[in-house]
Amino acid sequence: MMINVFQPSLGAEELSAVSEVFESNWLGHGPRTKEFEAQFAAHLDVAPENTIFISSATAGLFLTTELLGLGPDDDVVLPAVSFVAAGNAVAATGARPVFCDVDTHTLNPTAAHVERALTPRTKAVLLLHYGGHPGDIAAIANLCRTRDVRLIEDAACAVASGVDGKKAGTFGDVAMWSFDSMKVLVTGDGGMLYVRDAELARRARRLAYHGLEQSSGFAAAKVSHRWWELNVQDFGRRIIGNDLTAAIGSVQLRRLPEFVERRRAVAEQYDRLLADADGIRLPPALPAGHTGTYYFYWVQLDAAVRDQVAADLLEKGIYTTFRYPPLHKVPAYRGGGAVLPNTDTASSTTLLLPLHQGLDDAEVRTVADELRKAVEHRGAGTRA
Ligand SMILES: *Cc1c(COP(=O)(O)O)cnc(C)c1O
Repeated sequence: MMINVFQPSLGAEELSAVSEVFESNWLGHGPRTKEFEAQFAAHLDVAPENTIFISSATAGLFLTTELLGLGPDDDVVLPAVSFVAAGNAVAATGARPVFCDVDTHTLNPTAAHVERALTPRTKAVLLLHYGGHPGDIAAIANLCRTRDVRLIEDAACAVASGVDGKKAGTFGDVAMWSFDSMKVLVTGDGGMLYVRDAELARRARRLAYHGLEQSSGFAAAKVSHRWWELNVQDFGRRIIGNDLTAAIGSVQLRRLPEFVERRRAVAEQYDRLLADADGIRLPPALPAGHTGTYYFYWVQLDAAVRDQVAADLLEKGIYTTFRYPPLHKVPAYRGGGAVLPNTDTASSTTLLLPLHQGLDDAEVRTVADELRKAVEHRGAGTRA
């Protein structure tokens, strides 16, 4: 049997929430969406008007570029170790993606990495929190404020992360989370958008639904004798979430602390089992005051053996992977000139081990044992 690298936990509670939505006979955007938005806002400790349940984090990234008015005259700084959707959302506007380097061990950029990449044309910085580690987010938020640059947080990895009690995703101007099937909190497909400014949040809500001012159904029928008429304020897309996926999201959000706790235990078990292994560098510890989501558990191996070790593990039924293949190597973004030595090192040495709340202790031991064996066998024992 295969040990997956990511895996969701869905069960009777989610099924019963879905079944209630079926009985209500309303699958679309409605009361359960509102409820999930409010619960997620409470989780972030922000106002519910500022959170918008959408169809994916990618849709949120594209909407954000529009919300912030990014275009051909602008530069957007993002770490080369970013998800492809971030590069696409920026490049699609005609803005220039400027890739910055990352720390070799954390795979997050430091404030210094971001600062070096700023230009007079920089309009926004677009960050993620690698593997759920908040990283240098507080210092980078300060830097962006000082330089009058908007900060976008792709918080897809960081649904439960924070610094000194402040949640990842609430440091910048706009943030998005992903609830796709490979994330920690899953709804099938789905995402949350957080917009700090109240007016901009109202505009985001319109842009997420045809550019229409949202007053529909019975409420609108009471105030207008022609409730079918259009009130177009923006030329928007249609990326709203629905009550079916929101109902799953509410259950998953309630279970999130339990998921993260189990993931933390798995990560600690790997730490113990691999502590003295030659040729295997363990992921960095979370700095004091930081909380993580434990989305990735990454080890670093000698670049000469990393790919072969991954292939050996796959043969043993253990699926590993690398996130995120660096974007400065993608010709479509025209970032080929960027010299990013840490990104290059991290990309050729990093491997993500299976980490999810469904793993049992025996599976974690199997992964650790097989990894040690593969690394020894490939002769990297003393080199990495
Ligand atoms: C998964 C992921 C996304 C995309 O999320 P979708 O909801 O699938 O669009 C974006 N950014 C990061 C960092 C991710 O891991």
